[in-house]
Amino acid sequence: MADGRIIKALSGFYYVQTDDGIYQCKGRGVFRKKKITPLVGDFVTFDIDDNDEGYISEIKPRTTELVRPPIANINQAIIVSSATMPDFSTTLLDRFLVLIESKGIQPIIFITKIDAIDKEGLQEIKTYKREYESIGYTVELLSTKLPTDLERIKHYFSENVSVIAGQSGVGKSSLLNTLNPQLLLKTADISKSLGRGKHTTRHVELVEVGDGLVADTPGFSALDFDEIELEDLPLCFPEMRERIDQCKFRGCMHLKEPKCAVKQAVDAGEISSYRYEHYANFVEEIQSRKPRY
Ligand code: GDP
Ligand code: ZN
Repeated sequence: MADGRIIKALSGFYYVQTDDGIYQCKGRGVFRKKKITPLVGDFVTFDIDDNDEGYISEIKPRTTELVRPPIANINQAIIVSSATMPDFSTTLLDRFLVLIESKGIQPIIFITKIDAIDKEGLQEIKTYKREYESIGYTVELLSTKLPTDLERIKHYFSENVSVIAGQSGVGKSSLLNTLNPQLLLKTADISKSLGRGKHTTRHVELVEVGDGLVADTPGFSALDFDEIELEDLPLCFPEMRERIDQCKFRGCMHLKEPKCAVKQAVDAGEISSYRYEHYANFVEEIQSRKPRY
């Protein structure tokens, strides 16, 4: 028996990283009965047969679980937004933050393409940086084209299992490919051997960046709130979460309730009004979603 972490799933095999290397494993039928499938990121126990093939016998409890992409035990999500092309959007950033917070994953914000904006644009982005930092988030401004910037942000990956999130075109691939140049090579190899492009090889893999692991497929591609319960939404905003005991009513949704500490904080300018507006819009969105059953 041995223990390890699944770092890749491909064609019915799970590749389990252990202290003595990577084992190719199969899942046992028992998982199908229990309706649980091993996921990339899972910590597992497996038996090894005479041919050095492994059979997964146990999946350890997961701390987090994503559906798209299917991956377990991610503890950090790096939200990549760009300062320009596409324009920086607090609406979209807040949407990503809520999705990530709802999964119990630690978010970090990277704002890219800092090299492509003028002085005024930079001032504006720096103001947003300060605002999000005041809520408690970590925000880094960078250019994926500047090696010194990449050197500076590399440490965030250390000892973490991360997923990169963000809309198309913000620089997620540029970031990942520069941080792990082997990725590019590997993608090219796969395309050659299978005779198809990288977009048709749909698998998730954890790749090394520094002393950490990163999912090679961007996460949170589905941006709807289908998996979020209405009463959990206020908990996805740290500035509301920290005031939870200060509202008059327990379970206050910070909408029309009297003596609401959140609304008072918005009026006093302690909570950004655009963050509160996004919250109210998200409430409406969740309320208007069709019942799932
Ligand atoms: P993805 O869709 O998020 O993976 O974005 P890509 O990594 O494919 O980048 C989209 C485009 O933005 C490409 O043309 C990149 O060269 C460019 N790009 C990415 N990061 C930066 C940056 O920091 N500065 C500038 N000027 N361009 C960037
Ligand atoms: Zn309230």
